[in-house]
Amino acid sequence: MNKDIFKKFDGTPAAIIGAVVLVGIAGYGFYTYRNFEGERAWLLTELTAAQDWNYELLLDVREKERIVDSFSSQLEELGVTVGVLDKLAHTDEELLKKYSKVYFLNENYIPATLFDIDEKYLLPGSKNFMIYGKVWPHLRDLLEAAHSAGQNLLIASAYRSFGTQSALKSAYTVSYGSGANRFSADQGYSEHQLGTAVDFTTNKLGTGFSAFASEPAYKWLQENAHKYGFILSYPKNNAYYQYEPWHWRYVGIELATKLHDENKFFYDLDQREIDKYLVNLFD
Ligand SMILES: [Zn+2]
Repeated sequence: MNKDIFKKFDGTPAAIIGAVVLVGIAGYGFYTYRNFEGERAWLLTELTAAQDWNYELLLDVREKERIVDSFSSQLEELGVTVGVLDKLAHTDEELLKKYSKVYFLNENYIPATLFDIDEKYLLPGSKNFMIYGKVWPHLRDLLEAAHSAGQNLLIASAYRSFGTQSALKSAYTVSYGSGANRFSADQGYSEHQLGTAVDFTTNKLGTGFSAFASEPAYKWLQENAHKYGFILSYPKNNAYYQYEPWHWRYVGIELATKLHDENKFFYDLDQREIDKYLVNLFD
């Protein structure tokens, strides 16, 4: 039977063909297997590398978490919370800066918000009737308290832009010559541009508020203004400026009360000491 089969293939032994085919299949199989093996080894290497990389990332994340935790606890120890940081980030630090004859507020500075002072508190004919938005509630409380105490306290001036200030100074210069520098434009310059300073007067004085120191309203302010966050910027015999009893600046209730209780003046404090009160400026 087998011999019959052999004979059917033109002298080529079918066994040899069969063997060649088998070897071919086996060879291909082996070749494919080796390829798979190679690929598997390569994938394993990649996987190991990826795992190593993941592990490094994990270590990195843990290190960063440790740093954040450490910062958080340090801030907690300092009494600083996220709320405080947020408050500081939204409080204009210019509002508690000391301004002098050499350090002026930038001429382009404009307060974040300005509020119209209620007309009933304005000196009739007064043109400057705006105040820093967040200062207004405190100024209104002060004015209401003063009026309840029988003091006819009025606002003679408040926010002044750089342009207004320059014009005002020129007007004074025309009327009073170089002496103008001594009594008006320079002193409250930056504080009025900040929008946190006001010049007070009374019904009786009107525009003649240079005599403000002799008014009972001035005495009332000395005793009470700190409760509403206001301080006298340029007190008598201060080392910086001419005495301006009518010019009061908002510095916050906390700082104003400290200054009042310790009988100190804003401009005598170190700027770093003042900056500590920035966070509670509008409380
Ligand atoms: Zn002033």
